[in-house]
Amino acid sequence: MERTLVELIAAKRDGLVLAETEIHRLITSFSDGKLADYQMAAFLMAVFFRGLGDAETVALTEAMLHSGHVLDLKGVTGTKVDKHSTGGVGDKVSICLAPLVAACGVPVPMVSGRGLGHTGGTLDKLEAIPGFRTDLSSDDFARIVKDIGTCMIGQTKDIAPADKRIYALRDVTATVESIPLIVASILSKKLAEGIDGLVLDVKVGRGAFMKDEANATELADKLVRVGTRAGKKVVAVLTRMDAPLGRAVGNANETREALEVLQGKGPADLVECTLVLGAEMLVLGGQAKDAAEATAKLRAAITSGAAVRVMERMVEAQSGDPKVVADPSLLTMAKETVEVRASRAGFVTDIDALAIGLTGVAMGAGRTRADQAVDPTVGIEIDAKPGDAVQVGQVVARIIVREKSHAAALVERVSGAFAYGEAKPTALPLVIKRL
Ligand code: URA
Repeated sequence: MERTLVELIAAKRDGLVLAETEIHRLITSFSDGKLADYQMAAFLMAVFFRGLGDAETVALTEAMLHSGHVLDLKGVTGTKVDKHSTGGVGDKVSICLAPLVAACGVPVPMVSGRGLGHTGGTLDKLEAIPGFRTDLSSDDFARIVKDIGTCMIGQTKDIAPADKRIYALRDVTATVESIPLIVASILSKKLAEGIDGLVLDVKVGRGAFMKDEANATELADKLVRVGTRAGKKVVAVLTRMDAPLGRAVGNANETREALEVLQGKGPADLVECTLVLGAEMLVLGGQAKDAAEATAKLRAAITSGAAVRVMERMVEAQSGDPKVVADPSLLTMAKETVEVRASRAGFVTDIDALAIGLTGVAMGAGRTRADQAVDPTVGIEIDAKPGDAVQVGQVVARIIVREKSHAAALVERVSGAFAYGEAKPTALPLVIKRL
């Protein structure tokens, strides 16, 4: 006899394994209104304590995926590959990565998110481009991916709607930090893009969702196992997120920095992160046999200008001003700049990404509630990175604000994020491991 919904919640509470059909029934009942929010909240708490096995997590992922539509990209030839980052400070990689990989022949359908808390979001950064639209229809999305090779939009109401409701419940029931729930949430949205492969950038460190390597490895392992069992090619790379990535933290300034990467410039850590993830995408997409060949192709697409051209076409197709791509200085930034100076001579040993990210939120570059707007024109520029020698009083960062009158507290916060020492710190590798 079929167990009732309450019996299924009780079974998970008691640590029993649910059948795939039972997990599907819980999600469809939730979507149909037969399972109430408070019952789902109880189930989520049971999962938080008891966990889900891989088969259960695949079932949850697929049930949430099929609560909406899977984008139809059958008209796009080639192996379609996307990248997902678990989020960090200064992480603008998607903006340069998607056109770069597309320029090398791998279609990149990308559905991105907005910033929340101390981490920024790709949509907010892209919308700093005058006119750029991220709210395209599924048909326009498919057409642009087919014609240009990439398109970057926001989650439509048809993409995994059950995840949206479940995430809202998790947020207010202290059940966000559950690895199987995170895995199902991320993968249900990504698989709805109609992709064949996915590269996951699992950030580790103070500025990341996962603060230590053991937890990040557990998350990455499960993402790879569940994604693979769901029939996709999945690779995960653990990358360091103790200090901000690159030099720009904000929105318009982060977009500018990502565009500079496409022009063969940009800070070394941002370029490295882009090339490492791009190489994985080219290999998954069948356009390179290994990372060395893939990296050479990516570099060639930058040098030849092919990546810039894809970006210009994508921006134009999404109603943005394509002139910004060749001349990122056209992006509007706030007019006032306040300098942050080194409190002592020596080497910068550390920059606390979390403190920088939270300062960005405080100045309006980020949001604390999903319904808030961001100010794309404000941000922080890091002039001295860990390992750089500085003199006392030297400018180590600049805060870009609309009005200087509010800046004193911001200067104090950014200044407090910097640590100095006598000796040059050992540079830790950006990539921690690949799974
Ligand atoms: N990002 C998601 O999309 N879902 C989670 O549960 C956590 C991070």
